[in-house]
Amino acid sequence: GETIGILGGGQLGRMLAMAAAQLGYRSHVYAPEPDSIAAEVCGGFTRAEWDDAEAMARFAADCAVVTYEFENVPVPPLAALGTVPLLAHPRALETAQDRLNEKRFVETLGGKPAPYATVDSTEDLAAALATIGTPGILKTRRDGYDGKGQWRIMTPADAHGLDLPDVPLIYEGFVTFEAEFSVILCRGADGDIRYWDSAENVHKGGILALSTVPASALIQDQLAHARALARQVADALDYVGVLTLEFFATADGPVFNEMAPRVHNSGHWTIEGAVTSQFENHVRAICGLPLGDTALAAQRVEMRNVIGDAAEDWPKILSDPANHLHLYGKAAARPGRKMGHVTRLTLC
Ligand code: ATP
Ligand code: MG
Ligand code: MG
Repeated sequence: GETIGILGGGQLGRMLAMAAAQLGYRSHVYAPEPDSIAAEVCGGFTRAEWDDAEAMARFAADCAVVTYEFENVPVPPLAALGTVPLLAHPRALETAQDRLNEKRFVETLGGKPAPYATVDSTEDLAAALATIGTPGILKTRRDGYDGKGQWRIMTPADAHGLDLPDVPLIYEGFVTFEAEFSVILCRGADGDIRYWDSAENVHKGGILALSTVPASALIQDQLAHARALARQVADALDYVGVLTLEFFATADGPVFNEMAPRVHNSGHWTIEGAVTSQFENHVRAICGLPLGDTALAAQRVEMRNVIGDAAEDWPKILSDPANHLHLYGKAAARPGRKMGHVTRLTLC
């Protein structure tokens, strides 16, 4: 078989590589970290900095197609991939890497984000607080994930004396939401779009803790609207592969939070809980194959993340046939680090 290149070496890359192997593809991972957990299950691994054009060109020479499991890959060095296709297209990366671009882009398609203002100075922050008010969240425009690079501002006093990094920021009004959900779709090379059921997502400290399918009735009511927006985003970017949009379900309808141009943590339940997983369909899409059925394969599915070094009784969890345990093989359990997940199926 052919080789798929994966930019980024974390658990999403690992799960993509496993799905690729099932379909007879080899994977080659490109990542700067020495201890890539995705590389462990792959045929090839290039360890080099993102801007090492020579290393990237050598990596590309191995690959029929290149994809990414991580959206913060710097875009200019990707020119070194040459004629090897990068899917989803780099425009999806450029859009999703910057919270300002992402919000403006989604607004042009009729999506509604939280009120926001860019912040590049203390004066900008004062102005943003005056127009948008509190509570709100100040976020770095780039490079954030798992709630990193965010400051919650409950009252104007909270904004004083913040030790802010010297990077572009964005202030968002706090959305009073009833629930959170994600729309995950896969778009094939021929434009065919499939949606998985939407999970209801619960975050703790800015990190996804729990995803449950089916979602509540309120979310079901907002799905048509949210899916239509996700379809427009995918079509506008001529997107190929799995795309995720995160939403707040509010009394006034869905509010767009952010997009991820990749497979997503809130879709891990699809490995056992859907007929075809997000990882398999992503591989099918980037390889130009027909997409698989995204239907729910259980009555109810619950996915919870294993975060940090909390003691867990794996044998007990495994002794319940409803549970499916995934451990990512990460060496060090830092606080807030995603170490694995447990999917629990309730069959029909
Ligand atoms: P990831 O990419 O890992 O999902 P992230 O670091 O990009 O996370 P966000 O999605 O921006 O973070 O925020 C994490 C969580 O914080 C959200 O899922 C939500 O629970 C809460 N949050 C973020 N922004 C807002 C907002 N404007 N109003 C209310 N809650 C918010
Ligand atoms: Mg994010
Ligand atoms: Mg998020």
